[in-house]
Amino acid sequence: MRGFGFREHGGLDRLEFVEVPDPVPGPGEVRVRIRAAAFNRLDRFTLEGIPGLTVERPHVLGSDGAGEVDSFGEGVRGLRKGEKVLLNPAIWDGTCEACRAGDEALCRNFRILGEHTQGSATEFAVLPRRNIHPLPARLSFAEGAAAPLVFETAWRALVSVGGVAPGQRVAIVGSGGGVATAAVQVAKLLGAEVAVASRSRSKAERALGLGADAALEFSEETPLDRVLWQWSGKRGVDVILDSVGTPTVPRSMRALARSGRLVVIGATAGAIVELDLRLVFWRQASLRGSTMANAREFDAVLAHLAAGRLRPVIDSQFPFERGTDAFRRFDAPDQFGKIVLDAP
Ligand SMILES: [Zn+2]
Repeated sequence: MRGFGFREHGGLDRLEFVEVPDPVPGPGEVRVRIRAAAFNRLDRFTLEGIPGLTVERPHVLGSDGAGEVDSFGEGVRGLRKGEKVLLNPAIWDGTCEACRAGDEALCRNFRILGEHTQGSATEFAVLPRRNIHPLPARLSFAEGAAAPLVFETAWRALVSVGGVAPGQRVAIVGSGGGVATAAVQVAKLLGAEVAVASRSRSKAERALGLGADAALEFSEETPLDRVLWQWSGKRGVDVILDSVGTPTVPRSMRALARSGRLVVIGATAGAIVELDLRLVFWRQASLRGSTMANAREFDAVLAHLAAGRLRPVIDSQFPFERGTDAFRRFDAPDQFGKIVLDAP
């Protein structure tokens, strides 16, 4: 089958259409005919090469997808051929201590579709039965592909790790990515007061349309910590979600309230930081990491999507043949929301 991905790691010039074997579902597995795939920053990192991660090559990218059930292996129940479904890209073994304790996101053998396995930007994907969910009736295939990774990531980061409570102040640092557009909605659903902070005023302001209470712009002259401190009425921010890294994390830490939580979900602009630990102990603050979600968190997200309380934000949708253009969208200054690729 045809896929979109790469043979050799590198930059966007390495992207190409590849031929990979049709996957065959084993016992307990489902094969889905993909109708739409969606990309995340993760795909860029997989293309560039993640230290310590060896991928099968040629490699098909894409962690998000939606489509129709094509076939399934022995022992699969509760699905019919042709049923519209979406994919949970979080893959766990179901047998380790973390899985048995019900927090599959901490699985010892945790994998992500398209990173550790062949991805969704192709004709068929095979996943365990527990990764296949009915596509909510109100969602198109494109929306069904746009939702899973970013909403499950935002949900775990804000609900389970961040512990956001009604009335608390939540700031989301960086505004154009899919996770930010999901996090604004999740934080509002939790009853928080929400600010989006970005270097781009226009991007931050677009978050107002998703329910954010404030759009904040920061720069060298007006740094992030000062902007957030002012917004919080000099009390500090209860929960800050940061996926930027080196340029923002030390500033985010300075803007936390007493007992505040800085939740790091990525490091797109660099992973090494210098922190003033006095800020951590004096304010009794926490620095927490979060990635993906467990089965219960995913189910919660899906229920809110089905009820229309959360909605996927699509930046753009490309025909399969324009996969490289889809990737280029990540660098567009006006990119806002998810980038979707039609299946071949
Ligand atoms: Zn496990």
